[in-house]
Amino acid sequence: MMDTQLVLTGFLKRAQRYFPNKQIISRTSPTMTHRIPFKDYVKRTHRLADALTKLGMTRGTKVGTFAWNHHRHLEAYFAIPCSGAILHTINIRLAPEHIIYIINHAEDEILLIDGDLFPLVEPALGHLKTVKHIIVMSDDPVAPQSSFPNVYSYEQLLQEADENFEFPADLDENMQAGMCYTSATTGMPKGVIYTHRSIVLHSLALGLAESFALKESDIALPVVPMFHVNAWGFPFAALNFGANIVLPGPMMTPSLILDLIEQEKVTITAGVPTIWLGALAELEKQPRDLSSIRLIISGGSASPKGLIQAYNEKLGVPYVNAYGMTETSPLVSMSHPTTEMNSYTDDEMLNIRVTQGLTVSLIETEVVNEKGPVPWDGETMGELRVRGPWIASEYYKDDRTNEAFRDGWLYTGDIAVLTKEGYIKITDRTKDLIKSGGEWISSVDLENALMSHPDVFEAAVIAVPHQKWQERPLACVVLKEDALATKEELLQFIEQDFAKWWLPDDIVFLKEIPKTSVGKFLKAKLREELKDYEVQ
Ligand code: ADP
Repeated sequence: MMDTQLVLTGFLKRAQRYFPNKQIISRTSPTMTHRIPFKDYVKRTHRLADALTKLGMTRGTKVGTFAWNHHRHLEAYFAIPCSGAILHTINIRLAPEHIIYIINHAEDEILLIDGDLFPLVEPALGHLKTVKHIIVMSDDPVAPQSSFPNVYSYEQLLQEADENFEFPADLDENMQAGMCYTSATTGMPKGVIYTHRSIVLHSLALGLAESFALKESDIALPVVPMFHVNAWGFPFAALNFGANIVLPGPMMTPSLILDLIEQEKVTITAGVPTIWLGALAELEKQPRDLSSIRLIISGGSASPKGLIQAYNEKLGVPYVNAYGMTETSPLVSMSHPTTEMNSYTDDEMLNIRVTQGLTVSLIETEVVNEKGPVPWDGETMGELRVRGPWIASEYYKDDRTNEAFRDGWLYTGDIAVLTKEGYIKITDRTKDLIKSGGEWISSVDLENALMSHPDVFEAAVIAVPHQKWQERPLACVVLKEDALATKEELLQFIEQDFAKWWLPDDIVFLKEIPKTSVGKFLKAKLREELKDYEVQ
């Protein structure tokens, strides 16, 4: 067979050849929408590659992006790797010291920054050691004033560049193409490098029926940011398959996202559960027509049963849980039920939907404890490990590599059980697990149970130190507006689902749960704040 290279240039050619009139639709303000057909997008992508090359971008150059989801960011997604350089998407929500660390550690030479984010970054520019050029992305053909010497307007550079720029024809599939740092809940972020091959294979996997079934007829809205694991691969895959792409820009409130879904008749969308929780609360205030949606993908953290039920049953919108990490590109598994489950009761089906699902093709997973792989009994916990062609094999220049990458596997740091059907069910992250008297209690299971109470908006369960038991669970609960549920009521509500010793020793009511830069519960902060809390 021919050994042709799996490189991203092929995706761009395909988009231009077969889908010239498909669209990239970007929200630029709450009332304005920018539309560009693929044929013009491809020309602008060539222009961007030419402009970056003139600034010194060459094979292996790291080009950082600091931007929301929009068409210019998408231009960078192809212009940089198709030139043989490395697209480094930077999480704009990280703390300034992490952002500076990441840019210096990656050795970015050129940065593409959104106009509205530039004032945020400017004070940090003096700390950047390798950056030579900054390009500001906005409609403005004039670069903003800055003390940094080389600041350019994106549109001005594109205007002066050549749309007939040719991408190199000799790219190797194992060349580095992209880079992303984990969102660091503890310690400094860790970098992961994606190759052309890993991105191409991951993108094709998003077309499988067992995963997103992404196809030409789709109108795809990645709510998940393009700075977070490549918006779960949507930008690459959508261009290749010819699906219209809808990008929300900085307009990330549930209300504006729902408006966008309704206006653009979005068929498939993806984001973290906090987005879908917020959207649900908004829908209760103002219903929207969601009939165009064929699939909502939720990932990044566990979805409570109540949330899954609300979308699938009350709203009639398919809502499926997906699991992955920055290190895994990210897709590892998805919780689509199989036909064997056609006879399942609603409750049994919900128990499947709440899992992280079956491992997708080409990826292997195992749940292991000190005795080896755990049985499919829904009970025995172990650590989930993963391997496959789009799973990282190391962290970029980081001595923490050996902690996670061992024996040819990535140890995810997630504790899981396997259901009798072989579905992965994450019960915790290693660091969030509650170890009570030598036994493990799953904080996720308790949270899910609490969040199915109609009065509960959010719940996070953490371990607090305990003299006798070492650790005990403490529940932190945010009630819905005007809700009045008491501690006793909530404990009573969940008690039939758990062994007595699993039940939280206490419940504290909070105004909000602190969140990470990508909207996950920041339990480390809760643990720190409540470490002296005396449970009875
Ligand atoms: P970080 O590791 O910095 O939080 P990632 O976005 O890479 O950044 O997070 C990966 C982690 O998110 C996984 O290890 C897992 O704990 C959690 N996660 C991802 N998807 C799911 C899901 N569907 N259900 C439960 N947890 C999830």
